[in-house]
Amino acid sequence: MKKQLLVGLLSSALLVTAAPSFAIGWEDLLRGAVQYYSVSNLSPQQEVALGQQINKQLLSTEVRLNSDRILNDLVQRVGQRIARASDRPNLPYTFQVVQDKSGNAVATLGGFVYVTTGLIQATNGDEAELAGVLAHEVGHISARHSVQQMKQAAIAQTGSALLGVDQNTLVNIGVGLVSRNYSREDEYEADRLGLHTLARAGYPADALPRFLRKLYSANSVPEFLSTHPGSQNRVTRLEQMIQAEGLPTSRQLR
Ligand SMILES: [Zn+2]
Repeated sequence: MKKQLLVGLLSSALLVTAAPSFAIGWEDLLRGAVQYYSVSNLSPQQEVALGQQINKQLLSTEVRLNSDRILNDLVQRVGQRIARASDRPNLPYTFQVVQDKSGNAVATLGGFVYVTTGLIQATNGDEAELAGVLAHEVGHISARHSVQQMKQAAIAQTGSALLGVDQNTLVNIGVGLVSRNYSREDEYEADRLGLHTLARAGYPADALPRFLRKLYSANSVPEFLSTHPGSQNRVTRLEQMIQAEGLPTSRQLR
């Protein structure tokens, strides 16, 4: 995902919200067409509606989707298997393949997950490693990390989340958040949820630490490690968790 473009979008979003009269057309206001959301208390339906708008904006700007049938079928099949085994199985999930050589995967509100062609390539055809990354992303969605980030950003920008915030402002915030890092605590939580999801979906749980280890030892640092920070500690934590909780490993499932 093109970081510079996302940063550009975020700053224009900030400009727009600084002058709300430009963000919301007065015709829309008169027609009552502007949707307002209470960000402190977003319902799953509102989360999905915002996710759809964020996705629409991403696809109309900097995100180019890959249309290769085999890659898309693989990501759909593995993604839906992970989604069904996740902590929020009732959310409608959308998994999309982004044409981008850098290895990255991101998620936004309402079940939207993006994985780059570079990341799929880095799994070297190991389906369980791809499942591990998708399970981690779905973990962020299950824990509503983007919803929390959006809430904080909306409070910072508008001064209050108690009164409704209009949809355009929230969508712009959401688009900007896609390239922003999660906190280390969020990463640990997505890792923990991801491991359990992997195991429930019938994949070896050690596929996630194995893939991360591979990324850390790569010559150039893949983008996934900067959008999902942590350190080699994260890998050790995952391996300890698998052992402590007796989660299935590749050796056992073979
Ligand atoms: Zn992450």
